[in-house]
Amino acid sequence: MIKKSFSLFIFVLLFILPLSLFGDSLPTKARVTFVADGDTIQLDTGQFVRLLGIDTPEKRQEYYAKAKDFCRKKVLGKTVFLEYGPEKKDRYGRLLAYVFVMEKGKKLFVNEALLHEGLAHTYFFDKQESYQEEFLLAQRKAILLRIGLWRLKLVETEEIYISSDNSNVFHRPRCPWAQNIKTKNVRLFFSKKEAYMEGLSPCRRCQP
Ligand SMILES: [Zn+2]
Repeated sequence: MIKKSFSLFIFVLLFILPLSLFGDSLPTKARVTFVADGDTIQLDTGQFVRLLGIDTPEKRQEYYAKAKDFCRKKVLGKTVFLEYGPEKKDRYGRLLAYVFVMEKGKKLFVNEALLHEGLAHTYFFDKQESYQEEFLLAQRKAILLRIGLWRLKLVETEEIYISSDNSNVFHRPRCPWAQNIKTKNVRLFFSKKEAYMEGLSPCRRCQP
């Protein structure tokens, strides 16, 4: 009997406890131990965090290293404060969060700072997400002042791009997802700049 309850105790200690402490927990404060790229960091709880509302350049894209270096400089080894949106995790199990760090006695909003520096573009999964207005203002300013990646010439791959009133993504006209958009919801853009000025991001499928 004692043996049985002891093994139950060990089981709880080894499996249940860590799960409840870290597996499903949503830390609001943690130290950053690793920066994977401009918009993905790891906490000392082991959890990965995807910075919500933005997308930084991928490997082999221009400004990838600059975005990663900026993020590293701001948060690596530091304590960050996390705020969550309507969706707490993505399909890879990463936390989706707004990340803040104290810098010179002030709270720096890292997601927004990356947009200000032109090192990210807005990427809204969900209409209910917070800070969309702030993020869009930061992006518009970076576009108009040609800061960071907005210095690069936007190569037009199509004459026209298509979006829906109900989404935050723009497509090539031939994209199967674009063809599913109901006529009454169609929005047209004649340049990528127009779409980015509205806070839309390129479709991952048709990659306009
Ligand atoms: Zn598409």
